[in-house]
Amino acid sequence: MDKQRDFVLRTIEERGVKFVRLWFTDVVGTLKSVAIAPAEVEGAFTEGLGFDGSAIEGLTRTFESDLLAHPDPTTFQILPWRGEIDPTARMFCDISTPDGEPAVADPRNVLRRTLEKAADRGFTFYTHPEIEFYLLKSSQFGEGGPVPVDSAGYFDNVPGGTAHDFRRRSVRMLEDLGISVEFSHHEGGPGQNEIDLRYADALTTADNIMTFRAVIKEVAIEQGVYATFMPKPLTGQPGSGMHTHLSLFEGDTNAFYEPGSEYQLSKVARHFIAGLLHHAPEITAVTNQFVNSYKRLWGGDEAPSYVCWGHNNRSALVRVPLYKPGKGQSARVEYRAIDSASNPYLAFSLLLAAGLKGIEEEYPLPPEAEDDVWALSDGERRALGFNPLPASLEQAVQSMEESELVAETLGEQVFSYVLANKRREFQEYRAQVTPYELRTNLEIL
Ligand code: GLN
Ligand code: MG
Ligand code: MG
Ligand code: MG
Repeated sequence: MDKQRDFVLRTIEERGVKFVRLWFTDVVGTLKSVAIAPAEVEGAFTEGLGFDGSAIEGLTRTFESDLLAHPDPTTFQILPWRGEIDPTARMFCDISTPDGEPAVADPRNVLRRTLEKAADRGFTFYTHPEIEFYLLKSSQFGEGGPVPVDSAGYFDNVPGGTAHDFRRRSVRMLEDLGISVEFSHHEGGPGQNEIDLRYADALTTADNIMTFRAVIKEVAIEQGVYATFMPKPLTGQPGSGMHTHLSLFEGDTNAFYEPGSEYQLSKVARHFIAGLLHHAPEITAVTNQFVNSYKRLWGGDEAPSYVCWGHNNRSALVRVPLYKPGKGQSARVEYRAIDSASNPYLAFSLLLAAGLKGIEEEYPLPPEAEDDVWALSDGERRALGFNPLPASLEQAVQSMEESELVAETLGEQVFSYVLANKRREFQEYRAQVTPYELRTNLEIL
């Protein structure tokens, strides 16, 4: 730890860093940032930086508002978009109370706690997100809704298009920040793109997703366009998911891999999938946290609506991807409900907790979905046991309310904050008269 701190202090000196931003995330998943002078960094390491936590969404109750941010030296990076002159750097922080206890409502701490539970059983949790987002001409929109930057589709090569330059520049910046990118391509919707981050331990990937969102927003500003992670910005076009590939390792061995068994899936993997399926409805208010998230989940276009798993079945909630023979280390499962607007720390905590519960309780894995589940009738789906995911934020909240798993994993404070916040959101939404109603009702009624 001290070596890491020394490295940070030396780099600040050598590179002439002028500002150091301390980053952390609120319960909703918004990135928070406070810049300190280089001279303050040593003190921030030893004592933490004090701030008023009650001003941050969900972080404290007002009567216990003083908190300290402790920068994590392993996350030190120079921000490439601030340029070479008077460089700015950043570190992610862990939040504590003044007496040094980890703050119960710090999302990074929620994930750390859950990872420790996995570590107690000998597991390390790895994630690999595929992040989808839209590039729009502007954040302003008229009656027709937002205007995407192009009208291309899945894997399209767009000569002279904005998207190419955009992805090139973003991938370059991410690499400068130490974040490896595996793939990037145009996605199915007009102006929609996807960038896939290389797998890493879940705390690193959650940090990387926060950085990713900042990078994408910065590059968009630089290129005069607007980037959005909103789950479903355009009616009738695909939403932006954040399919996440999950795996557990025991030391250097992938615990999901068992040569010779069906799909080479170990018992651990089968119970883990069963856990994801069993608890999926309860965790959806976190993996899909906005009213708008449900427009994606129920809007078709390859977003999952039913709880089932399948081997290479893109209509399934959990997919077991193919991997090349001899590549057992890449055995993994893909969770397809989670969207690009979720808080990655909290969402990863719940995915892990659900999978671990499946392992602990040895949940049996239901039969796989072999067909396109959207093409089945309701009766057929019922007969096969493919229950729907929550159809709205309201249903998701109802399901979460009763979940011991979610309460235990998030901790009482985050649990009640999320519930109250989400109830408020759907009540507000319910009271709106929408353009859809005006369009379909006003002239005929
Ligand atoms: N955009 C789709 C979703 O919402 C996924 C499309 C894909 O990656 N095949 O999940
Ligand atoms: Mg993909
Ligand atoms: Mg995709
Ligand atoms: Mg995918």
